[in-house]
Amino acid sequence: MAQSDRSHPPPQPAYQAAPGSILNADRSFYDSVAKAERIPTDSFTLPIRSGRAWQVPAGHIVRISTPDGPQVGDLNIWNLHNPRERFWAARTRQLHASHVSTYDRLWSCLPYLRPIVTIIGDSLADYGVDQYGGRCHDLLGTRCDPYVNKMLTGDSYDFHCHSNLIRAVVPFGLTEFDVHDVLNVFQVTGLNAEGKYFMEASPAKKGDFIEFFAEQPVLMALSTCPGGDLSTWGWGEGGAGEEGEKKSMLECCRPLKVEVFRLEDASVLKGWKEPEVPQYRGSHGMNVPVGEQQGCRS
Ligand SMILES: [Zn+2]
Repeated sequence: MAQSDRSHPPPQPAYQAAPGSILNADRSFYDSVAKAERIPTDSFTLPIRSGRAWQVPAGHIVRISTPDGPQVGDLNIWNLHNPRERFWAARTRQLHASHVSTYDRLWSCLPYLRPIVTIIGDSLADYGVDQYGGRCHDLLGTRCDPYVNKMLTGDSYDFHCHSNLIRAVVPFGLTEFDVHDVLNVFQVTGLNAEGKYFMEASPAKKGDFIEFFAEQPVLMALSTCPGGDLSTWGWGEGGAGEEGEKKSMLECCRPLKVEVFRLEDASVLKGWKEPEVPQYRGSHGMNVPVGEQQGCRS
């Protein structure tokens, strides 16, 4: 059959939760967190085509903004004390959507599966869906990397987001193998009629921002994509790895600003606690013998 049978009603979202589920953020709580008085604890501007990581205590707020105009950022997140627990873009995409905004949560990988941060502010929330089907803050794609650039163009370039994230986490004892699929902040993407991934120029203006509430102590790492605002992005000719074309790509590169805050009045967080891991027993159907004379663990 060439075409699917379209006579049935449209399918419903596969992942739905009952009211009160951890999947649905308590909007009034996060609104009160977003509006509460805050005290800055860390702040830096990330230069173009670079990467940096920073620590965030649980219950703090992280704001990433575009101080000089449009620029895409590639974000990774780990539990500060256990880097095996890290952001899981694919499951987050299923639990929420292909693009995320206020009240969506970023979830950690198995065997943890709990919110690692919750988005509490997004100045581009009204972008919605554009005429091409594009949406902002992308979970469909992942970071640019030197391997795919080499594969597609034959060129070597050392400052793709993957490489920027690697250099960012080295001072924290992590390596290339800890870098994972990203949230592309300020990045508009979609799938075309053929299901092909596309990117559009970032709609961010000076001062646009996205804010995260740390649900657990985290290490975050950000790369200022060498594609800048993606208005001239391309692999090969004109791409980030093309020596002769770097100038035009450079012209659409801008810094990103990162700020970390704690709440002035900690009582705003009354009743909040670090999310728990689902209480699955973890046997995966196995009964593993303890030893020669012993039976199986129950
Ligand atoms: Zn990139």
